[in-house]
Amino acid sequence: MKFDVVIVGAGHGGAQVAVMLRTQKFEGSIAIVGEEPELPYERPPLSKEYFAGEKEFERIQLRPAKYWDEREVTMLLGERVVSVDPVGHIVTTDDGKAIGYGKLVWATGGRPRMLSIPGGDLPGVQGVRTRADADAMKAASESARQIVVIGGGYIGLEAAAVLTKAGKKVVLLEALDRVLARVAGVELSRFYEKEHRDHGVDLRLGVCIDAIEGESRATGVQLSNGEVIPADLVIVGIGIVPAVEPLLAAGAEGGNGVLVDRFCKTSLPNIYAIGDCAAHENAFAEGATIRLESVQNANDQANVVAKGILGYESPYHAIPWFWSNQYDLKLQTAGLSTGHDQAVLRGDPAARSFSIVYLKAGRVIAIDCVNATKDYVQGRMIVTAGLVAPFEKIADTEISLKTLLPHETQRAE
Ligand code: FAD
Repeated sequence: MKFDVVIVGAGHGGAQVAVMLRTQKFEGSIAIVGEEPELPYERPPLSKEYFAGEKEFERIQLRPAKYWDEREVTMLLGERVVSVDPVGHIVTTDDGKAIGYGKLVWATGGRPRMLSIPGGDLPGVQGVRTRADADAMKAASESARQIVVIGGGYIGLEAAAVLTKAGKKVVLLEALDRVLARVAGVELSRFYEKEHRDHGVDLRLGVCIDAIEGESRATGVQLSNGEVIPADLVIVGIGIVPAVEPLLAAGAEGGNGVLVDRFCKTSLPNIYAIGDCAAHENAFAEGATIRLESVQNANDQANVVAKGILGYESPYHAIPWFWSNQYDLKLQTAGLSTGHDQAVLRGDPAARSFSIVYLKAGRVIAIDCVNATKDYVQGRMIVTAGLVAPFEKIADTEISLKTLLPHETQRAE
């Protein structure tokens, strides 16, 4: 078995490489090898509409089965690639299948990071990454009286919102002194903490967890202060471990993810890596090497790889953006706020529609918008331009953000 392009990982990035190649009339053979049994689907709804039962699985598939058939994209599903031979140009799957490649695209995302504490692997302790995880979480939550969510990142907060709306008692435990600490400024954290508490979530910050209690199944979470919080289900949302072991074992450079250059090439010939598992230098992080865990990054890096395979290389330089839905709040983010030295509030959080503009050394580097889509759309422009403008003007909601841009930039947009 041999294909011109073999894509490992049937997720957002993997699917987009194939879509882009076929859209651009690539005529070579393409195979996608995916560990999950499903055709590529959207992952964000797993902690939102799909988990809430508002969307059927068919509605979150990235493309219908017919699409892949018609475009002759071979789907090898339910198969995990366990080794890569970069000299022989062959990957091997867990059932011993050897698949030859011309170009290899590694798009494997990551596994949920779990707790390495006693009881951390008991049944009823659930990570959230796949449809199977979401189904297990949904089934267990139906009969649960109290659910403990560990981790105050986006996934934990979204799951808490869905469960609270469904009338469940939720305790959310965060180790740091605020939620969303890794991705947003303190003002946004405080806003979301208040929202969750107002909706009835028992939100606890700065909490240390010693163990998960239970015999054959989790029954509670033991904190380091000795308190045991009863739990019929424990949801863990504390990040991912990038799934790159076979590639690193084959000699690719990396550690926390596989290292790629501006064209998403790994250090191994003819092997690209994209999406959550790809550590890259990001212009919006001042050139720091980071991994981004977002649909935007997976799709945009996929497009970079497809162009490279098609022979018109263009480097990755996309503005990071992200969204999160909690209750009736739509958060939209552009840029990366890490390292900001100033946060400017636009609007009134009490009105539940506002934005926070982040600056570093006087330049706009990111924006978080809550129920403020116009600010988000224009915010992308001012982040891309690295706007320098007076604090009072940025804060003034009577002034549209884009009017703060130099005239030329406005016209270009
Ligand atoms: P994935 O989409 O994870 O695909 C990787 C695939 O590779 C998986 O199917 C995996 O099983 C498979 N795989 C792994 N190892 C192997 C192997 N060795 N062999 C074969 N197959 C393998 N992003 C946003 O921008 N907005 C959101 O609101 C948002 N919400 C999210 C909510 C949840 C619950 C989760 C889990 C993620 C969310 N994300 C969100 C993140 C987003 O889904 C990811 O950034 C995106 O899926 C990354 O795409 P990817 O192609 O890198 O990896």
